[in-house]
Amino acid sequence: MPVLSALLDAARSGSVQVVDLTTPLQESTPILELPAPFANTSQFRLEELSRYDDRGPAWYWNDIHTGEHTGTHLDAPNHWVTGRDGLDVSQAPMSTLVAPVVVIDKVAEAEKDHDFLLQIEHVQAWSAEHGALPEGGWLLYRTGWASRGDDPNAFANADHDGSHTPGVSPDCAHWLARDTPIIGFGVETVGTDAGQAPSLEPAFPCHSELMGANKWGLTSLRNLDQLPSTGAVLVVCPLPIVGGSGSPARVLALIEE
Ligand code: MN
Repeated sequence: MPVLSALLDAARSGSVQVVDLTTPLQESTPILELPAPFANTSQFRLEELSRYDDRGPAWYWNDIHTGEHTGTHLDAPNHWVTGRDGLDVSQAPMSTLVAPVVVIDKVAEAEKDHDFLLQIEHVQAWSAEHGALPEGGWLLYRTGWASRGDDPNAFANADHDGSHTPGVSPDCAHWLARDTPIIGFGVETVGTDAGQAPSLEPAFPCHSELMGANKWGLTSLRNLDQLPSTGAVLVVCPLPIVGGSGSPARVLALIEE
């Protein structure tokens, strides 16, 4: 049977399911908040143009106000200074947007230690159990943080010295960027780096290393508990913003029962 017919049959019968990994976009969707003097991104907002009224009697529509990095979004290589000559979000290869995906589960660790950092050994232990990381695929980092996603304060988890959310150690970020075949790294938190990443060396290692290696990031993912460790297919749909450094994205996964 042709592959696409088989896929549609499998979807109809339920043996292949589509899981939505996207945070709904609304004004309350958590965004990154940088301290002064840095510029901040916009909260998502709708601006009504007409709603079956004098401004447009038969139609309802809005303008949207959003940052490129608002809600579930894709980080392009040119987002970071280390990748400044790299691809912009409109140039994302189709093979990056539809690709194999694997999931590493560190929920228990992140619950115990909100500043938990993923280490090379953790990923190597995962590989010993599940096999090699996928060539040209995505590694998603499950921390359980999405359960805080409807409460911006719990999601940011900030105190006097900043945000406390799980991330990736500098060594591991360097290794993922340079020594593994993945093309992207995705997280449940507001950004791919830990809340305390400004004080790591280098600062924001995940951004710095991955973008510097022309790799991609995904943030604010949900429903990672519905994915198998291996064998799913990720479908990432960013807006093709020409010259953009990222874009809100609908992110789906195809899983096989
Ligand atoms: Mn971002």
